[in-house]
Amino acid sequence: MEKHKCVIIGTGPAGYTAAIYAARANLKPVVYTGLEPGGQLTTTTDVENFPGYPEGIMGPEMMEDLKKQAERFGTDVRFGMVTKTELSEIPGEYHKLTIDETTTILARTVIIATGASAQYLGLESEKAFMGHGVSACAICDGFFFKGLNVVVVGGGDSAAEEATYLAKLCPKVTVLIRKDHWKASKIMEERVMKTPNIEVLFNTDTVEVVGEKTVTGVKVKNNQTGEEQTIPAEGFFVAIGHKPNTDIFKGQLDMDSTGYLITKPGTATTNLPGVFATGDAQDRIYRQAVTAAGSGCMGALEAERYLQEFEEEVEAAQIVG
Ligand code: NDP
Repeated sequence: MEKHKCVIIGTGPAGYTAAIYAARANLKPVVYTGLEPGGQLTTTTDVENFPGYPEGIMGPEMMEDLKKQAERFGTDVRFGMVTKTELSEIPGEYHKLTIDETTTILARTVIIATGASAQYLGLESEKAFMGHGVSACAICDGFFFKGLNVVVVGGGDSAAEEATYLAKLCPKVTVLIRKDHWKASKIMEERVMKTPNIEVLFNTDTVEVVGEKTVTGVKVKNNQTGEEQTIPAEGFFVAIGHKPNTDIFKGQLDMDSTGYLITKPGTATTNLPGVFATGDAQDRIYRQAVTAAGSGCMGALEAERYLQEFEEEVEAAQIVG
């Protein structure tokens, strides 16, 4: 059975940043890509808010750069999915990881960077215009819609926050809520309702996103009256929640009711020794590439310190022995 000092699960900005730091610390990290190598950023187009790219960069290209940077220091990037984990509660012990349901490997430290997936409505048209008018992140993509009209779907805090953010850039923001009330907190709801260029349509379902090469409107239906209309808009923002990719850790790692991993505040430390959680898998608030990268760095530094402590303990035991 292969034994590794450090295995990183996931290849978004958190995973690759962890790999860069771990490789430079000579931990010889092995990274498993998961089914979507590069993570969520590979589904976006221009990234303009990651420091260091004054002209912006395409998401997939940025992830390729991060991969190359990680490999330059000796990271072993493997295409594969960690399908099962048997994480040890004993400090210094190996954690067991099953890859693609077939191979089992051992890892002294595990850095989790499995990310989160934005939830989508599941419409064909929504998929067709992904990156061409459809987005699940206003902070990432809102700027491209400056001066244009947009529609936001969702009635939770995310939708309220995205609508308020977009209202500063766009002349008109229409929010579609399927129920007759908000799910968002009162304060966020009030903020939206007080913003003059936001219109909220309750009891409204999205029928389809319309357009040719890019989005030109959103066809909606009032689920009480059956009345349909097409709202002219160049952007369609889906804000109906995220799901962290943490199912394989259920019952082993502490997580909240949505599945976000719980870390000790200000660290990447989970409830198990040698297991560190980074990126969107543990971040329900910021969910940005740069914050994910920062937490990936934290995870790697903590893994390095953990291994160092462990090695010192083994050395001390050998001297005593
Ligand atoms: P939520 O689960 O809170 O809200 C999701 C919203 O999307 C609901 O209004 C839901 O409608 C709607 N929705 C779900 N599926 C569909 C669908 N298929 N079609 C139409 N509408 C749909 O998710 P959020 O991402 O908003 O928030 C997640 C958590 O993060 C919450 O705890 C929130 O408080 C927190 N958060 C906090 C922020 C802050 O404090 N600044 C900012 C953002 C999030 P329905 O009500 O009918 O189910």
